[in-house]
Amino acid sequence: MANTRGKVLGIDLGTTNSCMAVIELGEPKVITNSEGKRLTPSVVGFSKKNELLVGELAKRQMVSNPENTVQSIKRYMGKPDYRVTLNKDQYTPHGISAKILQKLKHDSEKYLGDAVSKAVITVPAYFNDSQRFATKKAGELAGLEVLRVINEPTAAALAYGLKEGIENQKILVYDLGGGTFDVSILKIKNGVFEVLATSGDTQLGGDDFDRKVVDHLLSEFQAAEGIDISGNPEAMQRIREAAERCKIDLSTLTTANVNLPYIFENKLLDVEITRDQFETMTEDLVNKTISIMEKALQDSGLSPEDINKVILVGGSTRIPAVAREVEDFMGKTPLQSINPDEVVAMGAAVQAGILGNEYLKSSGEQQVESGNLVLLDVTPLSLGFETVGDSTASIIPRNTTIPTRNSKIFTTHYDNQRVVRGKILQGEDRAASKNVPLGMIVLDNIPPAPKGVPRIEVTFDIDANGIINATAKDLGTGIMRSVMIERPEGLND
Ligand code: AMP
Repeated sequence: MANTRGKVLGIDLGTTNSCMAVIELGEPKVITNSEGKRLTPSVVGFSKKNELLVGELAKRQMVSNPENTVQSIKRYMGKPDYRVTLNKDQYTPHGISAKILQKLKHDSEKYLGDAVSKAVITVPAYFNDSQRFATKKAGELAGLEVLRVINEPTAAALAYGLKEGIENQKILVYDLGGGTFDVSILKIKNGVFEVLATSGDTQLGGDDFDRKVVDHLLSEFQAAEGIDISGNPEAMQRIREAAERCKIDLSTLTTANVNLPYIFENKLLDVEITRDQFETMTEDLVNKTISIMEKALQDSGLSPEDINKVILVGGSTRIPAVAREVEDFMGKTPLQSINPDEVVAMGAAVQAGILGNEYLKSSGEQQVESGNLVLLDVTPLSLGFETVGDSTASIIPRNTTIPTRNSKIFTTHYDNQRVVRGKILQGEDRAASKNVPLGMIVLDNIPPAPKGVPRIEVTFDIDANGIINATAKDLGTGIMRSVMIERPEGLND
């Protein structure tokens, strides 16, 4: 067996499927799971005998045991109050994700014949601090040291950049997965992958295309039988699966049929959908992605003609209307030479190789010193804090290259105030209440003084993972003070 000691695992923790890769002989290589598959469904459940099931086995019981099975948990990552109940126990979204990561860790160890303790995990570029923090936490719960959290489109650019030997070009990555949409614009020059702008929607993906088909099937059934079956969990699970299959069929066929016998008592659901109908149903979703792409281009100060290459990533880019609309808007045929289901994991492996000091082979057959490859990403959302009158004071604007830092001075508002709290926000709205609260910074033990006299400088830094940290200094005494970002309780357990 090749020397695999200390290999860093690259993991694409997807909404629908997860995938893992490592560097072997200088190139990223996808690792199969213990069922021999390259993709692992991101599904977790407990069997009726209370055995933990992850991946294919959990997916298989989704119809027979839906109440003890959970899918698409990534949609809830970083939501502090969200809990899933499985066999009467409650789990956080990162607790569920940890079970998926645990399986990947275990299966990769079996494949490599060695312990795996370090990983690079990808996240949607548009994930906020809480979602990134929760992802890192999930890795730690799974027993992995998360060396870096990197953005999915950036990972895809790394994989393509290396494979195709891309140099001195600007590229746009359009990434539409199962639950999230991202677009990133990068410049590649002298081995430096620099993200110029990113945009996206963490609640837009293939699941939404499925839902359009589900709604159509439900209303057709209601029209034919006069029965609303949307409240029946088993019927709904079968309809959801059939809707996804129908959507996938329509990527290659112009007509697809959904035929579900005994969907309710002895009734049959039998509906034919054409590709044209599907395209009409989902037009608003595709248009939404195009306007997000326009926004990213605007932020980078570039127009479609300035972009040399377009890369399509994510299973949903196999939908013909998606690929066609992107091609029309950008005026060039997208690259699709790497499997869109695997390209993100491969890019994660490249970053893992860089951090693990492995040699990487570029398309020119020459060796690339991994130390010469540099990734410069950006923060997708503006960072600010809440001020009086529901306003947001900016600290770090979106699309700033990370790591980055900026300081703000905090003071007291009344005499002898001992504690100052500040609510930290991420988002683009001027109204504080319309942005996402990340947590509180708490400055305590302030020596008694008249209001406005204490001057405490808080430095916020966003690290290479896109995660926020804070330090504080008392400007009166020059002494560093303790400060912490109190994230919501649910993110800490
Ligand atoms: P990902 O998160 O990249 O694994 O993408 C998963 C999403 O891609 C799911 O919503 C799938 O239904 C969707 N998908 C996979 N293959 C196809 C296909 N051939 N046509 C349309 N959608 C697909």
